[in-house]
Amino acid sequence: MKKSAALVDKDQLLHEMLSANRWGTYFGVSQKVLDQVWNKLTAPDGNSVAYITMEIAADRDVFHPVRDRLQQLDITGSTDPRVDGFVKNFLRGPEKIPNYGGGLGVLAGDTLKSMADCKLPVVAISLLYRKGYFNQMVDSKIGQISWSGNWEPEKTPSIYLLHAPGNPDLPLEVKIPFYDQDDREAYAYARVWLKMEINSRLDYFVPHLLLDYSCPSSPEWIRSAAQNLYDSSSEKVKITQRRMLGAGVLPTLRALGITSSTVHLNEQHGVAVLLTQIAGRLAEQYGQDYCARATDQDILTTAAEVADSIVYTIHTPVKAGHDRFAKELHLAVGHAFCQRILHLLAQDSDNPAAFNFTTLAMQVNRATNSVSRLHKEVTRQQFPQFADKITAVTNGVHHLTWISPAKAEVYDSCPELQNWREDPGAFKNGLALKDNKHFRAFFKVAWQKDNRILTDYVNRMLIAHRNQMQETWIDPPNLLSHLSDPGSALQPGVFTIGFARRFSTYKRADLIFEDIDELLKPVLANDWPVNFIFAGKAHPHDEPGKALIKMVIDCQAELFEKSRGMAKLVFIPNYDMAIAKLMVAGVHVWLNSPKRPLEASGTSGMKAAMNGVPNISIMDGWWAEGYHDGATGWKFGYEDPVDSRNLHENREGLLYKEDSASFYGIFPEIIESFYVQDKFPAFLDRAIMNLPLNCTIFNTHRMVAEYAKRYRLKLSAPLANRLAKFRENYVSDPDYRS
Ligand SMILES: *Cc1c(COP(=O)(O)O)cnc(C)c1O
Repeated sequence: MKKSAALVDKDQLLHEMLSANRWGTYFGVSQKVLDQVWNKLTAPDGNSVAYITMEIAADRDVFHPVRDRLQQLDITGSTDPRVDGFVKNFLRGPEKIPNYGGGLGVLAGDTLKSMADCKLPVVAISLLYRKGYFNQMVDSKIGQISWSGNWEPEKTPSIYLLHAPGNPDLPLEVKIPFYDQDDREAYAYARVWLKMEINSRLDYFVPHLLLDYSCPSSPEWIRSAAQNLYDSSSEKVKITQRRMLGAGVLPTLRALGITSSTVHLNEQHGVAVLLTQIAGRLAEQYGQDYCARATDQDILTTAAEVADSIVYTIHTPVKAGHDRFAKELHLAVGHAFCQRILHLLAQDSDNPAAFNFTTLAMQVNRATNSVSRLHKEVTRQQFPQFADKITAVTNGVHHLTWISPAKAEVYDSCPELQNWREDPGAFKNGLALKDNKHFRAFFKVAWQKDNRILTDYVNRMLIAHRNQMQETWIDPPNLLSHLSDPGSALQPGVFTIGFARRFSTYKRADLIFEDIDELLKPVLANDWPVNFIFAGKAHPHDEPGKALIKMVIDCQAELFEKSRGMAKLVFIPNYDMAIAKLMVAGVHVWLNSPKRPLEASGTSGMKAAMNGVPNISIMDGWWAEGYHDGATGWKFGYEDPVDSRNLHENREGLLYKEDSASFYGIFPEIIESFYVQDKFPAFLDRAIMNLPLNCTIFNTHRMVAEYAKRYRLKLSAPLANRLAKFRENYVSDPDYRS
């Protein structure tokens, strides 16, 4: 009796997870939720935000509320074949969506997830890259080898190809104007994929539209530019990608009836949207021959009007992160009228033959946000003419994505942290936990578990690489794969230092290996073993970045031999979100060694903090706010005031000698506090203090609450109150007035 009742309930539940509108049929949210979100986005009042970004990282192996719900309910299929297909796909379909390169994409994904949790009316737009970013293999002699495979959005759960209104057999195609050298129109076409960023209650989602230009109606040069994220095989491909993003925004929103009146540019990549907005308004004003009739003054006046709807976030002071293109190149993709706008608003101060997209984004917005307090100072120095409008919204991470299952179980068990899933501000009550013996023991056990999971993962990988050596020509990147003695595997419980992020020059991945004899002094003097676990990709065209990977793996033998096997360095290839999640929870300290002040924020250290893992970091980016006089970790290296002459990446100014020496100064004390019994309580204090001091602040719920003010959204009273509560925990920018 009971059993069949439960079965009926399950079928009904599954049916409530099915919804449809004129563009498609979806699984995971109810019809009511779909209608609620869609009605907000298409309402005439335009009270919603279009969030534009080159990359979004939200892999299903680190956060997948629909699958979790199915598993919780012990559902494995359905008698209704339509639903059954969805269920099986959500339980077993591919989990990786490799449309991201690094921190910018992860931030975008975490932001959308918190927006879904907070029920903000937002739609995100980015591109769909059929070949993704790239896959990384590492060979001990060659270093990084990149290859691209195809991923299949068709098979990936929670991604849907939208169809023409009411016609499931015909994909929706949006027509997007490009231009050739002679200013003739050359249309590109994009199919639109909808990815749902569904919150954990399954009662709201943020739709994420991925423009897929590799459809048969698009010209070949567009299709080939659509394959790889950050394809920089030529400047032409690069600028084509930027235009695909920016120029695609308005036609796509229009095709779907979405009315968002605020545009958030997550970095300047999609800034071409401004060109289409300005031209569009002038066409309305002057009619078809607006190009001839609009004066320069008209363009500037219209740009100022458009600016009122734009919120812009700048993510890096590093010049390579800011797009600059030869003027003649832009002529080959954009309308001549766009050149006029660019001439007025995008001049590059260093190079009269180039347009600077950062300059354009800086000029045309109502709010420019930097991503940490320190980055605000840096950005103001870099762009003194815009200093007044540059404010700070310090980044965060999506706590539900990054807290490991073992740690989440501990947090769930604490009455002090009640409701932490809904409200990460609840972590502020964690102050009391430092002196709670029961909590300390439970926390330590969870940490040991996470460390064992990471260690096991690495050991399995080392063996897999060794076996692959027989089958392929890849020489395993890790020394330990070459040693067959069982003692060469990593041991859990050994002091473990983690480092993983993109490999680019300013991040100085090899900094602590500058003087290996110095580094090993406390190891050798006390027989204290240490594991270094590293991961990260370098852009395939970034030769210095790739050289850093080689430099790091080349240190393995010297570390191992000089330490008599006590210091083991492992590099995990093909870094992604799942590896990040294993690492940030399973190591004992998280290392961050950038050249100050080039790390605008950094977020991997926040993920570690979410798991109570202390950081050892240069005082750069978020750590200048998260360090709390040593209560949550350690600092080292140069920390003098920011000087705009220091914003370069030249090797002679990278302070390798000085900052590595500073690291060797603090390292003995850190490893001692881990291994010496009566010092360990202080180590654990630092770990636990991350909960009240850092989890409370560096989460994306607080961050999107701060952005919501910049968006000027009209929100219901309960929602506005909830966001106000998140903002009470921190004010990124005390100077900001809305
Ligand atoms: C968090 C994350 C990053 C960003 O790390 P930073 O320390 O902020 O540079 C990059 N890649 C992946 C896969 C991540 O999860």
